[in-house]
Amino acid sequence: MKIIDIIRQGKPVFSFEFFPPKDIDGFDKLFKTIDNLKSWNPAFVSVTYGAGGSTRSKTIDLVGRIKNDIGLESMAHLTCVGNSSDEIFKTLESIKKQNVDNVLALRGDPPSGEENFIKPANGFGYATELVQFAHENFSFCIGVAGYPEGHPESLNREEDLIHLKNKVLAGASFIVTQLFFDNQYYIDFVDNLRKIGVDVPVIPGIMPILNLKQIKKFTKMCGAKIPKNLMARLEKVQGDPESVYKIGVDHATDQCEKLLKEGAPGVHFYTLNRSRATLSVLERLRFPK
Ligand SMILES: Cc1cc2nc3c(=O)[nH]c(=O)nc-3n(C[C@H](O)[C@H](O)[C@H](O)COP(=O)(O)OP(=O)(O)OC[C@H]3O[C@@H](n4cnc5c(N)ncnc54)[C@H](O)[C@@H]3O)c2cc1C
Repeated sequence: MKIIDIIRQGKPVFSFEFFPPKDIDGFDKLFKTIDNLKSWNPAFVSVTYGAGGSTRSKTIDLVGRIKNDIGLESMAHLTCVGNSSDEIFKTLESIKKQNVDNVLALRGDPPSGEENFIKPANGFGYATELVQFAHENFSFCIGVAGYPEGHPESLNREEDLIHLKNKVLAGASFIVTQLFFDNQYYIDFVDNLRKIGVDVPVIPGIMPILNLKQIKKFTKMCGAKIPKNLMARLEKVQGDPESVYKIGVDHATDQCEKLLKEGAPGVHFYTLNRSRATLSVLERLRFPK
């Protein structure tokens, strides 16, 4: 089923993001995680697309298994990195063969060691081109990434929003945001999108903080800011993982509660392939399963 049709049913949509594990042990743990989260009836589950090599075929296998064996709606992430349009066509065909109806179309980050994204030969330089290509050649429901605090490479917020609008005009049906820790960024982002005529659903992406060192690394990479008072509370207890976890879950729960009250269509959880924190947030939100 297409994600946009699930969103249109009007109930808050909860979704979970996973990455393809490296080894069999990781797969066992991931399937346990999915099993733990399944009873929350996620609207969909998404699987990230790696920089290259075997993890890419794992993404396609996983979205197929999640859809066909576990019975959850799934979405494959797909990037423009390192592939020609012919190769991307074949990947989209293999996603379709898995009976998967949804694709998150991304440009991707520059490969490690490279500073700038270089358009692959006969490939695409921006996600907009991938959206257009997938929209013209297939019937997927297409999602795209949005950045409440601005994409790290963008010159300014206004231009970033115009580029996002172009992804929607090219055929995207919904937006999933980069993680953020201050809801005001999301509220302003959605307001500004509506002002320029973008009216597709914008699903906020939330990552409960589990580990201070790890979250500092993530936020440095993606440009999200941790509010000063939250950072101060986390730093105070940084030697005590359980206290860090508790603050992380409290903050994520508070964010989700307020976002849903503000009219967000749901929440996309960056799970890091673990279920404990996401389950705690969902349980505390007390949403009917
Ligand atoms: C929900 C979500 C899921 C993600 N999943 C993955 C994943 O699975 N695998 C992965 O590798 N990465 C993933 N990413 C990270 C993403 O690939 C990076 O953030 C990447 O740097 C940008 O991808 P994009 O699709 O937003 O690019 P684009 O929309 O192409 O934007 C990239 C930059 O180019 C600018 N831009 C766009 N169009 C133009 C134009 N015509 N002219 C000039 N500038 C332009 C934009 O403003 C932005 O600064 C994900 C991000 C999010 C938010």
